[in-house]
Amino acid sequence: MSDKLRALPAVGDLIHHPDVAAMVEHLPRSLVVDALRAEIDAARERLKNDLAIEITEADIAAGVQQRACAMAAPKLKRVINATGVVVHTNLGRSPLAKTAIEAVVTAAKGYSNLEYDLAAGRRGSRYALVEELLCELTGAEAALVVNNNAAAVMLALSAFARGREVVVSRGELVEIGGSFRIPAVLAESGARLVEVGTTNRTHRKDFEQAIGEHTAVLLKVHTSNYHILGFTESVSGADLATLAHARGLLAFEDLGSGSMLNTASLGLPHEPTVAEALQEGLDLVTFSGDKLLGGPQAGVLLGGKKIIGTIAENPLHRALRVDKMTLAALEATLQLYRDPQRAMREIPTLRMLGAKNETLRRRARTIAQALAAALGKHAKVSVVKSHGQVGGGALPFAELAGPVVAIAPKHLSVDRVASRLRARAVPVIARIERDRLLLDPRTILDGDRRDLHIALVETLTEETP
Ligand SMILES: *Cc1c(COP(=O)(O)O)cnc(C)c1O
Repeated sequence: MSDKLRALPAVGDLIHHPDVAAMVEHLPRSLVVDALRAEIDAARERLKNDLAIEITEADIAAGVQQRACAMAAPKLKRVINATGVVVHTNLGRSPLAKTAIEAVVTAAKGYSNLEYDLAAGRRGSRYALVEELLCELTGAEAALVVNNNAAAVMLALSAFARGREVVVSRGELVEIGGSFRIPAVLAESGARLVEVGTTNRTHRKDFEQAIGEHTAVLLKVHTSNYHILGFTESVSGADLATLAHARGLLAFEDLGSGSMLNTASLGLPHEPTVAEALQEGLDLVTFSGDKLLGGPQAGVLLGGKKIIGTIAENPLHRALRVDKMTLAALEATLQLYRDPQRAMREIPTLRMLGAKNETLRRRARTIAQALAAALGKHAKVSVVKSHGQVGGGALPFAELAGPVVAIAPKHLSVDRVASRLRARAVPVIARIERDRLLLDPRTILDGDRRDLHIALVETLTEETP
């Protein structure tokens, strides 16, 4: 054993080092001790690898400082989304409207009538809070809200098809981002999957032939994140509903995104709206709260009173229920839809999707000019044509054309720049295309501009090791 290793200070000694003692003033002592232990262990490992190096107490104290601050910093942090993907599942999907944020804060701060009927002075239902509004906006008879759309699908199938069969087209066995796969969700609900048709073509008669004594539900799944092109055929919601009802069965549709207004008014291809799906005669439709709706993570179920009532009474429902902050945000978001123009102005997801080319060009130029001036010889900055995406498994082929800021670093590799940007206190997530970093003004929020500018200037002008 080397003297150097033996000479390493113990936790009990270093805790009294002035720099470490100062840390305990503003960080939990247990955390500083953990950081200290980890730092001493790391020093021991470094010495074992190379006995020639010198590690002083001050070195260890400095390491403890960094480690303890990193441990104390929140793990969930704000990031700047410069990717141009509006509903970015990895970046938290939809930022909330101002009124929704205020509603969340109010609900979080104190007590509320979450499950209290104020008129009657007794227990009420948390779902009544948004049910009326959902029905008013969509024409549905009844509504229920759970944790997310995956939960909504699972709950509905569990309530109506446990131990029985659910018929789905082979062209609609969707996987969303790995964790949500229709066959897996179906299995989890206790239902048996019966696949019909082929990948590209499924006919009404395929469903007809698959119906047997164990069939409970005919399920349609919105092919949110892919399209099958060419020689294709699928059964419409209306045809599925007609067939189901003629045979005494139920027809459900998992709408995925579930748009409340016509996406054509945002300059996007038309996605069936929630109201349109209900008009097709389906018994139940489900969709997400945080995709095209632009609200909080939630799963909305809409249908007839009897269907929704049965689902609400299912024991699994209790395990999937939403909390007050979700309901507060959802209610405030839905309120905005009473005036579609207002919804498009105030719901960030809709505003970003519908952003005019002129607006984007102006923003791109402003960002680019400031950067070009600050970066000088460190990078070449330009505004180029590109396109963003809706994301969140909605409208996968709608290319959101628009100008972006392109940055070609002169002295650093673009991958290195991107990784440094991700490592910042407020990380910046950008697209890389060839040897350029692309910043899409569509998803850069107004409050992000200053931090974005500072991040790029510091990253690109930093001395390169
Ligand atoms: C996104 C999506 C889901 C999952 O919704 P979550 O709210 O993320 O649980 C399920 N089905 C389809 C078709 C989807 O697009």
